[in-house]
Amino acid sequence: MKELYKGKVKTVYDSGGGSAIIEFRDDITAGDGAKKETKSGKGSINAEISAKILNLLESSGVKTHFLEFIEPNKLSVKKVEIIPVEVILRNIATGSLVRRYPFREGQTFDPPIVEFGYKSDRYHDPMVNDDIAISLGLCSIEDLEYMKGVTLKINRLLKDFFEKKGIILVDFKLEFGRTDDGDIVLADEISPDTCRFWDKDTGDVMDKDRFRKDMGSVIEFYKEVRRRVLS
Ligand code: C5P
Repeated sequence: MKELYKGKVKTVYDSGGGSAIIEFRDDITAGDGAKKETKSGKGSINAEISAKILNLLESSGVKTHFLEFIEPNKLSVKKVEIIPVEVILRNIATGSLVRRYPFREGQTFDPPIVEFGYKSDRYHDPMVNDDIAISLGLCSIEDLEYMKGVTLKINRLLKDFFEKKGIILVDFKLEFGRTDDGDIVLADEISPDTCRFWDKDTGDVMDKDRFRKDMGSVIEFYKEVRRRVLS
């Protein structure tokens, strides 16, 4: 298969007929790739978690790129053109939000906060408003409104889903892509790399912050997220 794109932790291949294969590698990175390691098993864990969640969203009426999980670490997906806008949703204040603004760590947002970022390693994914996104030619105002609406719906579905698994969905990042027909669908992955998860009872961090902050037991907690997501 022809390699289309090699990212920091995933490789995308053209599988023909308008579909692609995403291979989840065992790499883990933080700080735009400044910190990088390999953790055995991580690729398959994130692929399986993503497959389960994308499937769940699809069956709840969210259009996604997901077609099929290919064991152990690949997803078959519709080929899309990724819109270079990251959509971040925050239910609880932490991470870059409390570094940038005087929010209190752990403060709850209801309604949640939605932020747009320009997907660019060179510029370190800076936050953009609608005028900047449109002036940069990233997408239209209608696309931004559509992505925000879908993101809020995904949050309602996933907050509920994770709550039942004893996990608080703190925040997450989504990417969207355009199909050949011009439809915008949810793309990329949903995993402990792209979400923050806190254990409802113990408050344990169960996501990539364990790697970012050198907290240890990264794979053990990713496995625990997988166990609960699949249970
Ligand atoms: O770092 P920050 O607090 O802005 O991250 C918010 C959420 O978005 C976190 O769940 C983080 O894992 C995710 N994120 C991501 N990719 C980025 C930036 C943030 O998955 N480039």
